[in-house]
Amino acid sequence: MKKPQIAGTVPEDRLPVQEVFGPVPQGEGPYTGRCACFIRLGRCNLHCPPCDSKRTWDVSRYDLAVTCPPRTAQEIVESAEEHGAESGITVITGGEPLLWQGKPAWRQVLTALPGDIHMETNGTILPNAFTAERVTHFSVSPKIGRMGAGDPAKRRIRPEVLGGFAELARAGRAAFKFVVADTGEVEEAAQLVRESRIPHDKVWIMPLGADDATWTAVGRGIVEQVMGRGFNFSGRLHLTLGVR
Ligand code: SF4
Repeated sequence: MKKPQIAGTVPEDRLPVQEVFGPVPQGEGPYTGRCACFIRLGRCNLHCPPCDSKRTWDVSRYDLAVTCPPRTAQEIVESAEEHGAESGITVITGGEPLLWQGKPAWRQVLTALPGDIHMETNGTILPNAFTAERVTHFSVSPKIGRMGAGDPAKRRIRPEVLGGFAELARAGRAAFKFVVADTGEVEEAAQLVRESRIPHDKVWIMPLGADDATWTAVGRGIVEQVMGRGFNFSGRLHLTLGVR
């Protein structure tokens, strides 16, 4: 598989946007059900085989210039406002959105968006001071088990970064989400939680499944162990409701 171009041809005053959509209920984690607008940015530094957002990075299947065209900060903010940013939270996701935090357009977008901004990240890059201050909540999803099978551990598990996010979690500003396929992967998550000193009540375990039936089958197999470990259990409300 070809590696994705991280910065490539995106001008400084633009960010690559795969989609802006909403208002929809946030489907996962501690803010499940919150009215949300989603901004999905292109490119990722990982290659998770079960990724449901391959249009953001998989150059072996997609032309990223087409799937993630560069858009100005003004275009992105206007689009977000048309899709519910003013009435709920705005979730910036990807891909890996923190790849772009050095760009002027990033600062412009985060400054101009109304209300609370949440960010979904794979936990390999720490937010800079501006991002950490502007973002209300980080949803951190380190890749383990089947999710992590596309990259070596040293690329997807960065202890110093996870330690930084664990500190944000202790301050009530981040939560961790592990997507797991079986009980062995729950144990892998538990080990990382221990090593990174992540508070248990800030951990959500989400069954791997791209449809309701698979999610339910995997969930039934792990729920007892997840509760026994003192973790939280995450649904995928958008699958259940059949919305984005
Ligand atoms: S980190 Fe997220 S966006 Fe990137 S490949 Fe993995 S699942 Fe997909």
